[in-house]
Amino acid sequence: MNDIKKETLQDEIHLETASKDLFEQAKSYAYAYMDGIYDRVVFPTECAIESLTVFDEPLPGNPCNAVEILRLLHEYGSPATVAQTGGRYFGFVNGSVYPVALAAKWLSDVWDQNSGLYVMSPIVSHFESICERWLVELFGLPVGTVAGFVSGTSTATMCGIAAGRNKILKNLNWDVVEKGMFGAPKLRIVLGEQAHASVFKALVLLGFGKEQIEMVPVDDQGRMVVEQLPELDNRTIVIAQAGNVNSAAFDHFDKICHCANKTGAWVHIDGAFGLWSAASGNKRYLTNGIEGADSWSVDAHKTLNAPYDCGIILCKSREALATAMQASGSYIQYSEKRDGMLYTPEMSRRNRAVELWATLKFLGQSGIEQLVDGLCDRALQFAEQLRTKGFHVLNEVVFNQVLVSCDTPEQTRATLENIQKSGECWCGGTIWNGQPVIRISVCSWRTTVADLYRSVDAFVKAREKSRIMV
Ligand SMILES: *Cc1c(COP(=O)(O)O)cnc(C)c1O
Repeated sequence: MNDIKKETLQDEIHLETASKDLFEQAKSYAYAYMDGIYDRVVFPTECAIESLTVFDEPLPGNPCNAVEILRLLHEYGSPATVAQTGGRYFGFVNGSVYPVALAAKWLSDVWDQNSGLYVMSPIVSHFESICERWLVELFGLPVGTVAGFVSGTSTATMCGIAAGRNKILKNLNWDVVEKGMFGAPKLRIVLGEQAHASVFKALVLLGFGKEQIEMVPVDDQGRMVVEQLPELDNRTIVIAQAGNVNSAAFDHFDKICHCANKTGAWVHIDGAFGLWSAASGNKRYLTNGIEGADSWSVDAHKTLNAPYDCGIILCKSREALATAMQASGSYIQYSEKRDGMLYTPEMSRRNRAVELWATLKFLGQSGIEQLVDGLCDRALQFAEQLRTKGFHVLNEVVFNQVLVSCDTPEQTRATLENIQKSGECWCGGTIWNGQPVIRISVCSWRTTVADLYRSVDAFVKAREKSRIMV
């Protein structure tokens, strides 16, 4: 009796979830969200965030109606989101998303492919190969460079350093796969004082401590001072960056790679958002010499405006990456074709390559160039407008990042707080040369000149309000 009841219940759940009405419902909620993106407050109101308590309940003992689940998400979830797909979100370096990329993601989400192996999904394997080829060409990297599609630059950087670590130790007759890291010959890590937090995280995950790191002093924009680069050797991994996370400054890759290549040191470039400069004729000078490195990490979810999450590890030596990421098991069936898990730490992975492919195909080379140049132009305009309103621009605006302050640190802090509360636009803050600054990242294809003016107005109003407060 009990069993029959249970079976019926599962059938009901199954029928309901398979129903097309559910997807129609999701579609109409999504359309409502997209239509409202321009009018929505950029950061959710306190009230919207407080309303999230409707989700706070004990683990449900019984099933819930699928339509009801979507309704809850629409009614309480959507208003509590950060409107970063609009044109006035300048926080962190968070890109927006192109409609075509999102639509391709919707469609391919329905396929629910596993990207681990060719036999799991020939189509994803195919798209990964295409994206690999296109990206290598777009960035001007050495022929034969391979790509792994991961969650973001944090993971990509970890993969690049792992490949370098194993390759360098192999050259010193130490096989990490056989012998592990304990007792391994000591390696040296060289990086700029302003390397991204994710680089330190990757190093620690890979068995390197702070004591092994040789910090290179940086100039006033955050670039490694190459004259102060230590002697490199065949036990060294150098990590350079294309795009300082605050100022967007680029390291001198030609010089760094030249020194490294002479000695057998491995160079990894963290190019999370800045590597895309290589795709623009006007901005390519920033990445001069990157082709001399051994591995590169980059995000598609930042500058390219592909959906989250999509990072890419590019590695000149297929063998180095595939050896570092190797896994075997009697059930794992490698093929003659591309097996994605050979290039990533994960086995099961969602299908990122389709939406990446869709974005690259939609834009084409000229579209990507326009996007990159457009973001840089907007950043320059933003800086200029703020200057005319009496704000101080503290960095050379070479790419999409602008660092701004008011007359005093207190005023800068108070102004930033007011900007964040305004709902008109959103920027983060950081410390630059020991002082608090407002950090603007123009990273959305949607940002128009009108968005800029509206945001500059919000800056001015926020500063006025801070004057009253101080
Ligand atoms: C964003 C960023 C990262 C980390 O990338 P995720 O995709 O967030 O993992 C690393 N380096 C730089 C310079 C970045 O801007």
